[in-house]
Amino acid sequence: MRSLAIHVALFAAVASCSTTNDATSSSSSSSSSSSSSSTGGTPPPSNPLSPEVQATRVVVEIDYQRGAEPYTGSTVAFGDTWTVFKTNAAKLFEGTGKTVEVPTTLEAMEAFDDVSGDQFTSEAILAIADRHRGTQTGGDVIGYYVVWLDGYFERDGARDTQVLGVSIGRTGVIAMFKPVIESSALPLVPGVSRAVEQAVLVHEFGHAIGLVANGLPLASAHHDEPHGAHCTNDQCIMYWAIEGVAAARDFAQKRITRSDVVLFGDECLADVAAARR
Ligand SMILES: [Zn+2]
Ligand SMILES: [Zn+2]
Repeated sequence: MRSLAIHVALFAAVASCSTTNDATSSSSSSSSSSSSSSTGGTPPPSNPLSPEVQATRVVVEIDYQRGAEPYTGSTVAFGDTWTVFKTNAAKLFEGTGKTVEVPTTLEAMEAFDDVSGDQFTSEAILAIADRHRGTQTGGDVIGYYVVWLDGYFERDGARDTQVLGVSIGRTGVIAMFKPVIESSALPLVPGVSRAVEQAVLVHEFGHAIGLVANGLPLASAHHDEPHGAHCTNDQCIMYWAIEGVAAARDFAQKRITRSDVVLFGDECLADVAAARR
């Protein structure tokens, strides 16, 4: 039976870090009921960068619960919001012959209304993916599914108000928790929560494509194993310890000065380079 490791965004609260860091080891919830389990759709390959994977289109589908839509558009200081994700996703697939396709306007994303409640287990997130996912892995496509939710991640029956996003095992399904992202806003520094949102998406997508040691082999010893699928480089977007919304904000403010900046450190980029061979 497949167990689902939950990759929680880097920005878990200090107080709850021992339980909310993603950890392949500590937070798997195995699907014990075989009849009702959701899969979230066809998973992407564990190494999507491999030359043996023939597909050339990496399609990132974006859906949102109405009222919890992603930030889009440009700000003067920052440039186009989605350039952050586009730049970093393209960097991961550079030289593979595969191109990343992602919508950057709300018109090109799908809104839905058929979800109630404001906390979501990984099972509930996969069930949403089962219902709403339009693009599956197959043929020329490697598919990822990202859903923005108007609520919080639920684990062990409790909501976690510090988890900004999760990547669910190797399903290729990512959830973003809009109220937590919005809580990173600073009235005097416009655009911070936008940068945080994009940073979280880059981090979760990094997990989804196999970083760190989550499908891609390590090219160097930079796996922060006690913290799950994370990187030991504290300047890398895959670092675990940028904890809590406040620290997420610090990372975004320091590192995302422009929208076209690469947020992965050299070690993670070396893993990616090795995975292409
Ligand atoms: Zn993580
Ligand atoms: Zn790294």
